Amino acid sequence: MATMRVVAKPEAALMKAVQISKAGGDFEMVEREIPTPGTGQVRIKVQACGVCHSDVFVKEGLWPGIEYPRIPGHEVAGVIDDLGAEVTGWKKGQRVGVGWYGGRDNTCLECRRGRFLYCRNGKVAGISYDGGYQEYMVAPVDALAAIPDTLSDAEAGPLLCAGVTTFNALRHSGASPGDLVAVQGIGGLGHLGIQFGNKFGYKVAAIGRGSEDSLLAKKLGASVYIDSQSSNAVEELQKLGGAQAILATAPDSKAMSGLIDGLAPTGKLVVVGISSDPIGVTPLQLIVGERGLQGSAVGTPTDSEDTMKFAELTGVRPMIETYPLERAAEAYVRMMSGKAHLRAVLTM
Ligand SMILES: [Zn+2]
Ligand SMILES: [Zn+2]
Repeated sequence: MATMRVVAKPEAALMKAVQISKAGGDFEMVEREIPTPGTGQVRIKVQACGVCHSDVFVKEGLWPGIEYPRIPGHEVAGVIDDLGAEVTGWKKGQRVGVGWYGGRDNTCLECRRGRFLYCRNGKVAGISYDGGYQEYMVAPVDALAAIPDTLSDAEAGPLLCAGVTTFNALRHSGASPGDLVAVQGIGGLGHLGIQFGNKFGYKVAAIGRGSEDSLLAKKLGASVYIDSQSSNAVEELQKLGGAQAILATAPDSKAMSGLIDGLAPTGKLVVVGISSDPIGVTPLQLIVGERGLQGSAVGTPTDSEDTMKFAELTGVRPMIETYPLERAAEAYVRMMSGKAHLRAVLTM
């Protein structure tokens, strides 16, 4: 029997990915070609990716200019498995993460000033390009954070967004060890904020709704639990001398507005929870005591490295529930319902 000689066209290797193909569309499990890293990029074999509330920007098409189909995910932990051209300082096999901060242009005024967080043409992982809801992801080296050995992938994921957000907000809040710092909201952000605040040496007052989160808040390191439903949070904070910082994590502008009078003189309300409603404050509320209102925006990859190193040092960990990639839709619904205890993470 004659042997047939077929010159096989090399078939591209395929991988599993979860994409959104239009604004408001469903999570679709698809097969895609494994991507190839370009100049200044690496390919990451994704091991875990956190499911973040900000994935709503992709799911619902709320980010200006977002293009579809798009693979969400900006709490990515994995291993570098291929290097593009001109990549130095990173090697194959190295554990890395990619958070919200997805890269910079290195040419705008802010980059020239070294203020990379504010790059005018900054990219967002999982929005500007495909994120971590897939088995292999390509990312620019500007977006990479090294993951310390003792952190698992599933633990590192949430630290790259929720973690660095609360870590940076608190370390730049102006509060000093021993100061009273309030954390409003005991969810995906707040449960990390309480732990970081405690390890920074603050007296942490956790502000929640209802009595059921009291035990959890104490376990996470809060000295005081304030139930904003059964008590007046401002009065409770002022009884303790007023807060030097209030980390506002719950996406509720009305609740944030209602806490400003709980600040001590020179105290700051630091906003990280995202809501589209305005925050209400009178000039006198700010002028008397020279209080401040400040936003805080995640952080750069080196901020993420600081966050993870601090977590490694002090034992701060996200509380997570894990789902296989196939169940991304379920993990997202659970996260949006506020019932995930406390971060949902996809594992590959
Ligand atoms: Zn996020
Ligand atoms: Zn720039």
